[in-house]
Amino acid sequence: MASSSNERSKSKSNADDRHSSSSTTLQPLDRSQSRIPEPNEPLWKKLFGHEISILNCFGFFSSAHSHSSSARVYQIWPGRNVFFFRGRLICGPDPRGLLLTSVSVILSEWTFCNYICSRTLLDQFVLIVTLSVLLTAVVIVSLIMASTRDPGIIPRNESSPLEDIASSSRVRSRRITIDGIEVRIKYCRICKIFRPPRSFHCQVCDNCVEKFDHHCPWLSQCVGLRNNRYYMMFIFMALVFFVYMLSFSWWKIGKKMSDNEWGGFRAAAELPETFALALFSFGAIGFLGGLAIFHVYLIIVNQTARENFKQRFSKSPNPFDKGVINNIKEALFSRLPPSKINFRAVVEAQDGSIRSTNSAANSIRIDDGSTSVVQNNINQEDM
Ligand SMILES: [Zn+2]
Ligand SMILES: [Zn+2]
Repeated sequence: MASSSNERSKSKSNADDRHSSSSTTLQPLDRSQSRIPEPNEPLWKKLFGHEISILNCFGFFSSAHSHSSSARVYQIWPGRNVFFFRGRLICGPDPRGLLLTSVSVILSEWTFCNYICSRTLLDQFVLIVTLSVLLTAVVIVSLIMASTRDPGIIPRNESSPLEDIASSSRVRSRRITIDGIEVRIKYCRICKIFRPPRSFHCQVCDNCVEKFDHHCPWLSQCVGLRNNRYYMMFIFMALVFFVYMLSFSWWKIGKKMSDNEWGGFRAAAELPETFALALFSFGAIGFLGGLAIFHVYLIIVNQTARENFKQRFSKSPNPFDKGVINNIKEALFSRLPPSKINFRAVVEAQDGSIRSTNSAANSIRIDDGSTSVVQNNINQEDM
């Protein structure tokens, strides 16, 4: 799988960015082998694989920016990501999970307003409806923030002098020392970099992501360094939202049953929408509650989900663990680093190749206390 991805990767160009190497020549994209959408492909085609012509007429969702001589980084980005609003928002390759999550929340709110809230039943009707609308808005905003941000994608190298040599197991990984504890860093043959500690190549999105936690199908996005706190915010706000939904639907079922002396089956037959919302909310609370507990634990011990599943620190101490308070501060309140890739940067065609207007040193600095600095530029001397 990795090798086939590598082959495909070799056939395409790498996008350049602020942190890319000085050799920034990019080859024109071969669309016949491309796994990324066309630059002017509308949102609905990205989502469903076909055009919805009426929406497309307005061009609102189109990321159209087709220049014969210039393009933007997002248009030739070799990962599988889908971009919206001309590279301003980035998502995983299949945004249908994000759409399904959004529809679930909005449909629950619609059911709540139409079938549960009524002026005859609730004294504080306006307040209860207003709160539910506010909660819905917060859930949707946190969902969009978590799912459309760059999760911490690491720039690729266009080529590596060690590419062939690095395929041998002898140089596939290196060891660096963090706070006196040895940590192994691995070479990614697709991105052609020695990736920083805690990062991992997402097989779904086809990118190396910093502090990779997991790829979330409900967000259609990787959860990594730059969106983990928004992911947490989404989980907790969605949990509060569904507790709110369940409380009122449960209350209504109970009140109707006692007022009319209905049994359980009669109540389900008379109030199918309320029952459906109660059941769905109950399931969502179980799922989100489990996720919330697990991720709070991960924050406290400063581990990613991947590190936990792989039991990365079962035999050696966790060099990233700074104590409960500092771990919480780091995860939720520290300043987030800016994106390492400017997906809207212009790349211009020059002599049959596409050249980025941005160039900078291609190194990744791991600002992690006493952590070493890892250079992604691989020199022959490093051997
Ligand atoms: Zn990679
Ligand atoms: Zn991913």
